[in-house]
Amino acid sequence: MEILYKSTRSEDTEVKASEAILKGLANDGGLFVPESIPALDKSLEELSTMTYQEVAYEVMKLFLTDFTEEELKTCITRAYDSKFDTEVIAPVTGKESPYFLELYHGATIAFKDMALSILPHLMITAAKKNHVDNDIVILTATSGDTGKAALAGFADVKGTKIIVFYPKNGVSPIQEKQMVTQKGDNTYVVGIHGNFDDAQTGVKTLFSDKELADEMAAKGYQFSSANSINIGRLVPQVVYYVYAYAQLLQKNEIQKGEKINVVVPTGNFGNILAGFYAKNMGVPIDKLICASNDNKVLYDFFSTGTYDRNREFVLTTSPSMDILISSNLERLIYRIAGNSAEKNAELMVSLSAKGSYDITDTMKKELKDFYGNYATEKETAEIIQELYQKDGYVIDTHTAVAAAVYKKYTADTKDTTKTVIVSTASPYKFGRSVMTAINGKYDALSDFDLIDELEKISNVKVPNAIEEIRKAPVLHNHICEKDQMKKTVKEFLNI
Ligand SMILES: *Cc1c(COP(=O)(O)O)cnc(C)c1O
Repeated sequence: MEILYKSTRSEDTEVKASEAILKGLANDGGLFVPESIPALDKSLEELSTMTYQEVAYEVMKLFLTDFTEEELKTCITRAYDSKFDTEVIAPVTGKESPYFLELYHGATIAFKDMALSILPHLMITAAKKNHVDNDIVILTATSGDTGKAALAGFADVKGTKIIVFYPKNGVSPIQEKQMVTQKGDNTYVVGIHGNFDDAQTGVKTLFSDKELADEMAAKGYQFSSANSINIGRLVPQVVYYVYAYAQLLQKNEIQKGEKINVVVPTGNFGNILAGFYAKNMGVPIDKLICASNDNKVLYDFFSTGTYDRNREFVLTTSPSMDILISSNLERLIYRIAGNSAEKNAELMVSLSAKGSYDITDTMKKELKDFYGNYATEKETAEIIQELYQKDGYVIDTHTAVAAAVYKKYTADTKDTTKTVIVSTASPYKFGRSVMTAINGKYDALSDFDLIDELEKISNVKVPNAIEEIRKAPVLHNHICEKDQMKKTVKEFLNI
């Protein structure tokens, strides 16, 4: 069955998957959503005997229906290869519930690699299919992890350029070092004086700038997005929820049909939305537990039905979740409004005008699959230490937010359903916060000495992604004001 993609903000757009990937954002500023969510056409038992790559094909073929089998399989093979440090690609670890789904075994050691390893291949294939001759300029806002994963994915990919904006004072030292040492003639990295929301809003504004689009076209360029607003990010993320369930079945940790819960450390709402799509495809997921840090706009939303970004932006030790405008929530809002672009558009106007919106009671009822809570900085640090002392297992700060929220959830509900905590980054990426949570004495060490200590206490080898940047030279040192993003882009492209 062919799946077309509609905009969340108007009824009249309908495009094929490859066009949606190329465009990133719909012309009306809305996000592309599949007109319906396809059901899995293989049983979970069958899927439990397959490799990650095979499961990826079985899931993605149902969404990306205008890609041929050969195109899709080529993209998958190129993406999920030895860039990952385990053949399983996304292992589920732990001997009992809660399990951890480790999504950080890719090139840049955060879960963004799961989708950004394949997005460049999908995009190049989509460009060929649609006879696009322009160079594609990937414009990306990052809270730290997307930037590096997108840079690594697109570096030296012919026919593309990639420009990444990150909040100069809002990422971890390792995250910044990873980005500013990026090689590749087609890569540009810019720190902005502002926070992630400023970067994301700036990028969205550039996308809907008609004048700029015309100037770009005249020079043979067009924009696309590597942010999770691109459906080409979301679809590959559905795969690992299916695969996680399949692995639990395969290891006899659960019985056929048994429901599981998932806990997702959430920022832009892309990861957890992919879990929701997996549930709607037929994976027996009961509760989707949405974990926030002190920027708890989503927790408030789930408990009150009001989304309100008018609050102080807090810098936390889980910077990739320091977000007050969770872009992908729009896809859920559209859906709980009964797939109504009109209702969604009305709420999004309210969000940009007032910084808030209220959903109706009927919409609120549709959120029953979700549970939201948040973890403070103290709770986050405590759970890192607790898990390390109990099992010798070291988790990063984002995963720790999820683990702390899971603890609150079980205390709240007494629910004993087996649970998977989605582990989104390697502890090496946030070494200082992780090590000082375990023992305050480590704070005296330098960033790289901390890394060596972490290796000793965790018995996990320092990943390549970290070794690479120890001595790498800084290649990008561009800084700009948040209202200078357009000018900066034009300079880079020489227009
Ligand atoms: C991006 C990111 C998140 C948040 O994911 P969303 O899809 O934006 O909700 C959580 N943890 C880490 C480590 C990330 O990089």
